Amino acid sequence: MSVFLPAPVDPFVQSVCVAQSRDAAFIDGVPGLSEFDVIVVGSGVGGMTAAIVAARLDMSVLVVEKTDVFGGTTAYSGGVAWIPNNHHMKEAGVEDSREEAEIYLRATLGNHYDAAKIEAFLDNGPEMLRFLEANSELDFVAVPTPDYLPWNPGSKHHRGVLAREFDGTKLGERLNQLRQPLDVLTVFSSMQVAGADIVPLRKAFRTFSGFVHTTRMVTRYARQKLMHGRGTRLVSGNALAGRLFKSALDAGVTLWRNTAAHEVLVEDSRVVGLVVNRDGANMSLVAERAVVLASGGFGANAEMREKFMPLAEHHVSLQPAGNVGDGIAMGVAAGAQLVENNPANGIFTPVSMIRDADGTERKFPHIMIDRYMPGSIAVDPSGRRFVNEADSYQNFVMTMQQKGLSKVHMIADRAFLRRYGMGLARPFPYPVRPWVRNGYLIEAASIRELGERIGVDGNTLAATVARFNEHAAKGEDPDFKRGDDAHSRFRGDAENQPNPSLAPIVKPPFYAIALLPGDLSSVAGLRTDERARVLRADGSAFEGLYAVGLDMNSMTSGLYPAGGSSLGPGLTFGYIAARDIAASVSAKRDAGAPAS
Ligand SMILES: Cc1cc2nc3c(=O)[nH]c(=O)nc-3n(C[C@H](O)[C@H](O)[C@H](O)COP(=O)(O)OP(=O)(O)OC[C@H]3O[C@@H](n4cnc5c(N)ncnc54)[C@H](O)[C@@H]3O)c2cc1C
Repeated sequence: MSVFLPAPVDPFVQSVCVAQSRDAAFIDGVPGLSEFDVIVVGSGVGGMTAAIVAARLDMSVLVVEKTDVFGGTTAYSGGVAWIPNNHHMKEAGVEDSREEAEIYLRATLGNHYDAAKIEAFLDNGPEMLRFLEANSELDFVAVPTPDYLPWNPGSKHHRGVLAREFDGTKLGERLNQLRQPLDVLTVFSSMQVAGADIVPLRKAFRTFSGFVHTTRMVTRYARQKLMHGRGTRLVSGNALAGRLFKSALDAGVTLWRNTAAHEVLVEDSRVVGLVVNRDGANMSLVAERAVVLASGGFGANAEMREKFMPLAEHHVSLQPAGNVGDGIAMGVAAGAQLVENNPANGIFTPVSMIRDADGTERKFPHIMIDRYMPGSIAVDPSGRRFVNEADSYQNFVMTMQQKGLSKVHMIADRAFLRRYGMGLARPFPYPVRPWVRNGYLIEAASIRELGERIGVDGNTLAATVARFNEHAAKGEDPDFKRGDDAHSRFRGDAENQPNPSLAPIVKPPFYAIALLPGDLSSVAGLRTDERARVLRADGSAFEGLYAVGLDMNSMTSGLYPAGGSSLGPGLTFGYIAARDIAASVSAKRDAGAPAS
């Protein structure tokens, strides 16, 4: 198979042309082709980015996806990618530089600062963003969220870019082949809610603008439901996954669903292909240039959680059922190494859960709103606070792990519940009673009684709340400094004064929900170099084997500098891998060697 490489691409100014002769992408219809330049395992952010960029660099690309839907965990996500010094920051009037980002990462990661990988990330991230925006459906806007350790030097806000909402009808019938978002985060089963919708929705019955916004949203959704049988406005991670899917189709990528990769084929120490199972039959596929592992880590694998997640018995993962570590297992079987010494092996989040009568588990990740809002606290089994509740989800759960807390409770009063909601129990006008009846919400007339109901000493809990209230009324938290830093203030309610993050818990009845340690993804992955090439135990790089997304060990060793610290590296190393594959073909051609 011959490969034409375009002249070196300057992604800032030049769009890359796709060979017009290539057949349009097709799905599920097997063309009899079993040979591609690049085969990608998994259709989340890492895999799809590598696939799109490789296709735009004129390579033939196949993406195999094990489940019947494309998008992976990416389609569940908040859709924010952390890309320091990106051009959208400048549009928002925020100055940043590579140097400041490096200072921040050095301060945040300490001994875990991996210079080679982070330099590759900082050098390529802004360029990747421009390249994808110029050559695909991807389109982002900077969001004002501060970095998660805003007290560290070099920290900024607006380094996270959010995928712009996407009209799902652009995918035509293939919209149903895109993974839907977590149902606990949607309304009326398929109305997706963006971060920017939350405040207006909360104010639907309090302000005219809230009412207008909500009415428009619901009317628009009703129209979509009537015409398409579902909501078609995709937001957040679903917009990102939808945009990646559409971009892959446009770039001529071949996409196979229901196709599980299970073996990397190695010949003369070079990776030459992949064995997949498609519709019950095994097939060997030839990858002329490279195989890219992007199967999205192992959150759904109980055995691996047991090994890698603290408090594993109580730990709940939000990853889709297909994410069981296949890419890692295939890499290890071929001689690669799984990194086992990260300080954190997941993107952690507190999770609340309810099991319905039919056995269905509903899991709610507390990554936004309630935990951050003024008028709630979290207590350990002794009835005492143990953390700045408005800290990042990562630090909240890592504190639980360090203190051996397998279950804690969020406490609030009725005014809080009706205004902000608590997990699955949504704010007014949603009813409260069903959640009390099924045991998700624990209700009591006094704080003491609430303590007894959740199994903590009532007097201790009452003393905790009294002390919190005394200081919260003045906008202070001498115990955990909640509301002192830019991040916890930003995440709170700007209208609450004197501190957006703090308010007393006063008006009965009082409520509690149980929070367990959980994850948004695993992050322990294969050892790679800064070009995303998978490394053997002796440190040498495999020829033709790359790992991106969660199959690549976390660039930050599992520490979490900011919102978007998975999707940002996922996009960037997907881009780096594809460029590296193209460059290695080019180098061979220049050296006069056959291209494969
Ligand atoms: C609720 C939630 C919110 C989040 N918000 C954010 C956020 O805003 N920013 C951020 O940075 N991160 C966020 N995350 C984390 C982020 O979504 C993931 O870390 C990221 O999407 C992982 O991307 P990936 O490409 O590695 O894997 P995935 O997106 O999971 O894709 C992997 C795909 O590979 C497929 N696969 C598995 N095994 C095989 C096989 N053998 N053969 C073929 N295919 C296979 C899977 O089915 C899956 O479709 C969030 C996660 C959750 C759950």
